[in-house]
Amino acid sequence: MPARSLDQIRRLAKNRGFIFAGSAPYGGLGSFWDYGPLGVEMLNHVKRSWWQNVVYNRDDVEGVDCAILMNRKVWQHSGHEATFSDPLVDCKSCRARFRADHLVTDAILARETEGENVHRKLRPIIELFPVSLKAAGLQLYAKLRDDEQDAEREANRRLREFQDKVSNGEKTSLDEFFGSLANIPGMPNVSQYAQLFFFVRRHPNELRSALLKLGKVSCPKCQKADWTDARNFNLMFQSHVGPVEANKGTEEELASRVYLRPETAQGIFMNFKNVLESSRRKVPFGIAQIGKAFRNEITPGNFTFRTREFEQMELEFFIKPPQFLQPGEKTDEQWHEEWVEQRYNWWLGLGIDKSRIRKRAQTREELAHYSKATVDLEYLFPGSLGFGEIEGIANRTDYDLSAHSKDVPEDALKRLKLEKNADSVENLDYFDQDAKARYFPWVIEPSCGATRAMLAFLCEAYNEELVKPPAEADIAALKTEIDAAIKNAEKKKKEAEKEKDAAQRKHDPVAIEAFIRDLTEATTRLPQSLAEIDGMLKDHAGAQNLELVKKLSPKVSKLAEDHTRLVLKLHPSLAPVKLAIFPLKKNEPRIVDEARRIKHQFQHLFRTVYDDSAGIGKLYRRQDEIGTPLCITVDFQTLEDNTVTLRDRDTMQQIRVPMEKLKHEVFHRLGMPV
Ligand code: ATP
Repeated sequence: MPARSLDQIRRLAKNRGFIFAGSAPYGGLGSFWDYGPLGVEMLNHVKRSWWQNVVYNRDDVEGVDCAILMNRKVWQHSGHEATFSDPLVDCKSCRARFRADHLVTDAILARETEGENVHRKLRPIIELFPVSLKAAGLQLYAKLRDDEQDAEREANRRLREFQDKVSNGEKTSLDEFFGSLANIPGMPNVSQYAQLFFFVRRHPNELRSALLKLGKVSCPKCQKADWTDARNFNLMFQSHVGPVEANKGTEEELASRVYLRPETAQGIFMNFKNVLESSRRKVPFGIAQIGKAFRNEITPGNFTFRTREFEQMELEFFIKPPQFLQPGEKTDEQWHEEWVEQRYNWWLGLGIDKSRIRKRAQTREELAHYSKATVDLEYLFPGSLGFGEIEGIANRTDYDLSAHSKDVPEDALKRLKLEKNADSVENLDYFDQDAKARYFPWVIEPSCGATRAMLAFLCEAYNEELVKPPAEADIAALKTEIDAAIKNAEKKKKEAEKEKDAAQRKHDPVAIEAFIRDLTEATTRLPQSLAEIDGMLKDHAGAQNLELVKKLSPKVSKLAEDHTRLVLKLHPSLAPVKLAIFPLKKNEPRIVDEARRIKHQFQHLFRTVYDDSAGIGKLYRRQDEIGTPLCITVDFQTLEDNTVTLRDRDTMQQIRVPMEKLKHEVFHRLGMPV
């Protein structure tokens, strides 16, 4: 059973040295994370495994490692400077910032999910939407996008008028607004709610602002409903090259401005020609890169799922455009499918269960205008996060190389909605010897987050196992004590609610409510949930400062320690430590020497640890918790017959292995070539 909540992962990651909150001595810095001794090992393994899959195992891929900072023109012509933004609203009361699209579309779609996963404070807006005709809205979207868009332009003008009225407090309603759209020539005849869905997705900020106000959507943080207008917020971090003190927007400032790259892909496009020529490749071929990316996300969170600094693993695979294919050559669709399959199988091969990963083709209205198709791979993360994108595999046509080239034919510029590039001094094109033609190759792009991938692997591998069931009487007694703790928590919650001044509250009623809910649910799963309850009592935000919880916690810890084990069932190739060696007796020099000798035998091959700081049982548990696949114990028998105990993490089985066969056995079990 994988993790049930991200809190379990966060706790383990901190306690065992995988991931720490960054800048901790100064109170941290919003959603920046540091990778500790085990985290750096595991993240390196994720990246190495990707490189193996995408570069080494193929005959047609090269790697690069490009500078993070690039000429600002790269980001102007890629479209990022103008459009890489998310809509932002501020709560005027508590100054918290949110993605306006998330607040509004969640509220609309909540109708379909009966309020599940939606903040209950968003409910009032649902009253505005008796029906959410999403499908019809999408049809409308597709139609308007293909039309000349006059209707859309006029609709937007009316939308702005409507927003002004709402802002000025004039009497108006959504019905009036949608009524005013009906007589626009060319406006398709679909329901108001479909139109609404369309506008929220496509021309959002004005309508979002109006909706937040009309719907009295309250702030998820302070529950007030007082919003600024929605506006676009560019997600790229800015800096300057050289000593610049000019004001923002001046020529001098713009000339030295740089962005921390929000994706690694553009560095690859910049080097298309360099790699093509230096490696004497022919299309089709790919260029891979792993590296840091930065996005000033409005709402980072869910541990390392969405962070402002993260790592990406991206491949740009260059292929022939359809019109230049020779008989029998793979089409763009076939290449796209091949990469979707290859990447999907990589996830499965590293232990992700089929039931928790899915391929989701983006709908037409989600696609960028130049993209022919995109398949997202989504993993079922625990808790309210649910299915979340872990990788996207896109067919980007000839957009990217054309965007950065100086001489692109007029019709292609029009098709790709590009301006002529007057800044580029090159054409990133290709001369095809077979077709005897020059063209801009198309691109298939598998784009994956390394840090997000590591989170998915940790969630998948997390297991709390009951190794020895506790006595029924112990569980019954525990349930009684938990009931008492819950009653006490309810009392404290009520007291906190009565306290009007939030600053004076000893407890946070919302956190206590979540704690009561989580604990009540976990209690129904006892004894399986012993370890989970143990963690909850120690770390849950709503459990802090509750006297009865403090009293109960050591008892639960003891029971959990005696009866359960936490084990990370990581694929051996991802495990931070592959092998742990223990001496049965740490004050017996011959045993210690032998154990250290075995460590030396393996440590140059992979991370191997020696530990003699506890009894064997405890040492095994420690290694289980960090996912070490194999442990070796050296004991008195070793001194007699030159055999050791080899213990398997998942089965907990122990076998005696003669020393001369040890390397072979270890390699075999780790899946390494022997
Ligand atoms: P999302 O919809 O989650 O914001 P996206 O569609 O913007 O992601 P892409 O631009 O396609 O993401 O980036 C490719 C991959 O990079 C994603 O599949 C994800 O694994 C990773 N990624 C993107 N943004 C972040 C982030 N803020 N933190 C961690 N990983 C990220």
